Amino acid sequence: MTNTHTAQVLIVGGGPVGLTLAIDLAQRGIDVLLVEQRPRGERPEAKCNHVSARSMEIFRRLGVAKALRGTGLPADHPADVAYRTTFTGDELSRIPIPSRRDRYTATQGPDTGWPTPEPPHRINQIYLEPVLFDHALATPGLRILTHTRVEDLAQDDTGVSAQAVDIASGATVTLRADHLIGCDGGRSLVRKKIGAALHGVEVVQRVQSTFLRAPDLLQRAKHPPAWATFSYNPRRSGNVYAIDGIETFVLHNYLRPGETDFESVDRDASIRTILGVGADFRYEVISKEDWIGRRLVADKLRERRIFICGDAAHLWVPMAGYGMNAGIADAMNLSWLLAGHLQGWAGPRALDAYEAERLPITEQVSRFAMNHSIALQKERESVPADLEAEGPAGDALRAAAGKTLYDLNVKQYCCAGLNFGYFYDASPLIAPDGESPPGYTMDSFTPSTVPGCRTPHVWLDDGRSLYDAMGDGFALLRLDPQADASPLLDAAKQRGLPLRVVDLASAEAAGLYRHRWVLSRPDQHVAWRGDDLPADPLALIDRVRGA
Ligand SMILES: Cc1cc2nc3c(=O)[nH]c(=O)nc-3n(C[C@H](O)[C@H](O)[C@H](O)COP(=O)(O)OP(=O)(O)OC[C@H]3O[C@@H](n4cnc5c(N)ncnc54)[C@H](O)[C@@H]3O)c2cc1C
Repeated sequence: MTNTHTAQVLIVGGGPVGLTLAIDLAQRGIDVLLVEQRPRGERPEAKCNHVSARSMEIFRRLGVAKALRGTGLPADHPADVAYRTTFTGDELSRIPIPSRRDRYTATQGPDTGWPTPEPPHRINQIYLEPVLFDHALATPGLRILTHTRVEDLAQDDTGVSAQAVDIASGATVTLRADHLIGCDGGRSLVRKKIGAALHGVEVVQRVQSTFLRAPDLLQRAKHPPAWATFSYNPRRSGNVYAIDGIETFVLHNYLRPGETDFESVDRDASIRTILGVGADFRYEVISKEDWIGRRLVADKLRERRIFICGDAAHLWVPMAGYGMNAGIADAMNLSWLLAGHLQGWAGPRALDAYEAERLPITEQVSRFAMNHSIALQKERESVPADLEAEGPAGDALRAAAGKTLYDLNVKQYCCAGLNFGYFYDASPLIAPDGESPPGYTMDSFTPSTVPGCRTPHVWLDDGRSLYDAMGDGFALLRLDPQADASPLLDAAKQRGLPLRVVDLASAEAAGLYRHRWVLSRPDQHVAWRGDDLPADPLALIDRVRGA
């Protein structure tokens, strides 16, 4: 039996990146078919735990942020990061992070004060994906084939053909689309088919990872629960993520540089050392999820009608919680460009911008992540032998270790720079004005309207989020409500480019927005700014649409 499906865009892979991309494209009016090999409802690996503020801003626009906030850890469970000698041992320091109940109202601590309507969210991928999947299912224009694996694909001058198999029945499924996007993870078939190669560092860190059930663990701890609890001791260092806040945890055992074989390291002994429990302690292994942290980036993200996003395009050690989040940023960069192309208002250079904009950022973030991982490994390898000694000498060592760990890690857990600092300065679609974008680090950035930067978020005086007011098309932000926007609106209309005017009536905007006009793209990056509209408004519209 053969089934045939056609669509404008075929997405291979329904992980977090493929689902987000599919929802966004469909909401933009594109006919999307998503194919996922897992059967409906099968949980993904318990990997990702940190959804960035930038991703949450996107989920807000897609109408799914509220549902995501409503799941994960219990509402009042601390989302803190604790550093201890062992899970049940002495606490060295703690990075306070608001629980989801307090997420929008908390004002104290390093993880507050985010310049956004949607601060970060701590939630495991096993809770995140089902919410995204249900939202995708309810999105008009989006069809999903689960338990179906794409096995081959090829493109010609008019489209892409793929062959898949319905895994339950063994039936062949034939797929045809104008474009195909591989969101099919680290082992991506699509990446291989377009001849893209991964370059970088094959092994940064090996981690023996175990998803476990331990109902008695929390009552053995001497300190309040945390979202992430790191164990530092000279015997075996690791990290334990709270998954349901009650009895399930993911435990990462960071292997030493010489430990190159997962199976030769005693899993049970390592788990007990990291937890600080003896042979009497009972736990159950739900699954083994060992992984290798890498720093690999594809040498291209596109071959004519076919693109790759997310882990298919880059793999790095998930420091600062920035694997999936970077993939979602890829997807949101590509989505509006492809929608514009299919709807006819984007020009021939629009699709080139995806690689020109995302590849340099991907390279930068991969290095941030790897360098941080190496710094942490050095820290683990130099834990003082007497760290757990009783008395003032041990106390002093623990205080010093606590401070070092706090200072090193607050940057990755409160990584405002990774969220909001990156900019697209090498893009054919951005109209530069001579000013350089401000630099950024993992944890710091300067909000800026320099073309290419993220459009700075402010609250409007009427209480609305600027991003809510901007919607999902281009937005012309106007500081002077009397100024005449019609030349640019007319030019946009002439080209069919979706553009609305938003009056920037906001006390908060005063210091941030120094120009009377700012043109923001659908992905909330500044395309152009000026005190006067350009003499040739059509030329500006043509530039930002890639004509
Ligand atoms: C321990 C750990 C912790 C992490 N923590 C974080 C974190 O806190 N924050 C963060 O942002 N990232 C984190 N990451 C990274 C994050 O998990 C990945 O970056 C993310 O899952 C990538 O999403 P994706 O959709 O690109 O790929 P995947 O999640 O791998 O999804 C790919 C999908 O494609 C499907 N597929 C593959 N091939 C085919 C085919 N031929 N046909 C049909 N379907 C196919 C697969 O079944 C899968 O569902 C972590 C990773 C690890 C290992």
